[in-house]
Amino acid sequence: MLIKRVRAKDVLLGRLQRGDDLLEALTVLVRQEGVRLGRLEALGAVEKARVGYYDQEAYEYRYLDFDQDLEILALVGNVSLRDGQPMVHAHLTLGDAQGRAFGGHLVPGTRVFACEFAIEVLEGAELHRGHDEATRLPLWTG
Ligand code: ZN
Repeated sequence: MLIKRVRAKDVLLGRLQRGDDLLEALTVLVRQEGVRLGRLEALGAVEKARVGYYDQEAYEYRYLDFDQDLEILALVGNVSLRDGQPMVHAHLTLGDAQGRAFGGHLVPGTRVFACEFAIEVLEGAELHRGHDEATRLPLWTG
């Protein structure tokens, strides 16, 4: 187990532009704003999506591509440090025209139609990602 006690500093509220790559735009934003630790949420819609599913037997991601208009029902994520740089880790729940929900681990390749976000900037500690042997994922190591 790993626990860090942090406190809320402030919140960045805003929206992305149509055509933005969702993960890349959020990553640029947190780096420009100097957010080193935080949590984020967003909602909106995308024109296409690409998400990952981690195969726990093979220890590798499989990627799912959805080439259709979808609602962002929920994006939840956090910001921490990987190799000293702020990194966004986010999971995305999407909804289709029939209201069915699906999603996964957000990766580059998801194109924004509209997106409103809230990033809560946290302070008081840092979290760094490093290799976790048990899962072979870049998890928080300290
Ligand atoms: Zn993930």
